[in-house]
Amino acid sequence: MSTAYPINEIFETIQGEGQFTGVPSIFVRLQGCPVGCPWCDTQHTWELKEAARVGASGVVNKAGPSEQWAELSAADIVALFREQGYQAKHVVITGGEPAMYDLRPLAAELEPLGYRLQIETSGTFTLLVSADTWVTVSPKLDMPGGYLVRPDCMQRADEIKYPVAMQKHIDALDNLLSRCPPRPEVSISLQPISQRPRATELAIKTCIARNWRLSVQLHKYLNIE
Ligand code: SF4
Repeated sequence: MSTAYPINEIFETIQGEGQFTGVPSIFVRLQGCPVGCPWCDTQHTWELKEAARVGASGVVNKAGPSEQWAELSAADIVALFREQGYQAKHVVITGGEPAMYDLRPLAAELEPLGYRLQIETSGTFTLLVSADTWVTVSPKLDMPGGYLVRPDCMQRADEIKYPVAMQKHIDALDNLLSRCPPRPEVSISLQPISQRPRATELAIKTCIARNWRLSVQLHKYLNIE
């Protein structure tokens, strides 16, 4: 039987964060996340409610955030991409927490068709991804769900993208990097939380001092999804 995924939404846009900023991308948002970040901007993805289950057409190009989700196989997802006429070849698997699911069957379907996958994850679940999947770990530390960032996720990361507002967040990242060292070639970026001016100033100053990258959530400045 083929793997089915609970999908909250699918849409095509420009990647606004991290290493692939500016790259046309198809976003596949999975439903479900137990991590519980208080400032999470996708809280509608946290729970998988049977009452919110809809058909495939209910999750494509949604007008706004909703708890509705559809159960789709990898083949269903490819069929939707074709139906919609999406042109992007970069596919961002996000959530929710997409690492709760085995993403290898999805990669096996998409990669032979020329798609490149990127997963955005909190680093708190064992990664089940293809060798070619670009792994962006946005580590979530000390969150109410009680999940720990996993050393194996930090090792597999191609990119670490960390939301910051205050110096204590940088200190916590430093602590994590020494406890769970990533590979030397990993790209590290700081992302100011909610575009706050002080957070942005701190992130810029720290990125320059450390030779890290700044990730500014371009889509929020452009007011696109
Ligand atoms: S891990 Fe991501 S989806 Fe889950 S609560 Fe935190 S920010 Fe939200």
